[in-house]
Amino acid sequence: MNDKFNLDSFLKKYKDDEACLKHIKSIKYPGGVFCEKCQKVTNFTKVQNRPVYQCSCGHQVSPLAGTIFEKTTTSLQYWFYAIFIMSVTRSGVSAKQLQRELGVTYKTAWRMFKQIRILMANANNDGGLLDGTVEVDETFIGGKGVNRKFKPNFNEIPKEVIMGMVQRSKIGKGGDKAYLKHIPNTGKWTLLKQIKDHIDSQARVITDEYYGYTQLKYQGYNHDFVTHKETYVVGDIYTQNVENLWSILKRGIYGVYRVVSKKYLQAYIDEYSWRYNNRKYQDKMFEMLLKEINNVKVISPAKIT
Ligand SMILES: [Zn+2]
Repeated sequence: MNDKFNLDSFLKKYKDDEACLKHIKSIKYPGGVFCEKCQKVTNFTKVQNRPVYQCSCGHQVSPLAGTIFEKTTTSLQYWFYAIFIMSVTRSGVSAKQLQRELGVTYKTAWRMFKQIRILMANANNDGGLLDGTVEVDETFIGGKGVNRKFKPNFNEIPKEVIMGMVQRSKIGKGGDKAYLKHIPNTGKWTLLKQIKDHIDSQARVITDEYYGYTQLKYQGYNHDFVTHKETYVVGDIYTQNVENLWSILKRGIYGVYRVVSKKYLQAYIDEYSWRYNNRKYQDKMFEMLLKEINNVKVISPAKIT
């Protein structure tokens, strides 16, 4: 957490539910609220004791409708706080930590945790392909924690495989960008499918010398690989960025959560890649994540438990 936007200033800014609601209103209606009855943008005022705003003509709008906050019985300030700590805490927080800090039930904490992760996963899915120079690697989570050998060893069955792709930062085009995916195995067709789905065909792809990547050159990719026998880096052929990402990820998994079930591994790595991709924005991370409420449509909140 940095000094510019710390917890203190956060709690001052969002001092109660009304302040939070007002902020949600400004996110939902950036150009002011358009009154359907008056057919123009009018001045909507807060209705007492309800999360609703009203035009002088009587028409009402609910800024929470269709968002992850719809029908919530939890204080909006708690939600904001949860979004804040989940976005700015470097290695993440668990639902258990949310429960403790907010003093809510575990069920409530877990529900909030899951919804906030949906915001993160959604923000990651901007649909753009990685391009330029992209480092690609895989790692294993769980099991004995042994990374695969450079030759396949079919006797050693690792627990869960995560594939990582990191687009190196480009001058004038922002920082690096990561995409992480929980994949069923390290077979070459599995790897290739992910690469084709997420990396532009004009990109330069850098991997290690694993046999699973040998198909890349036949698919039109400009492929360079690191030879681990060499103790020095040849030019810019390295995969240091994606390897650094693995160490952040593993520190989080083993430090914060200890165990991540297979079922939630993708949600977990979505959370990590969101934080990784947005870490350069620091004090804007909370606002950026909160804005995703406009893009995550909750159709029937009763079905999301
Ligand atoms: Zn009106």
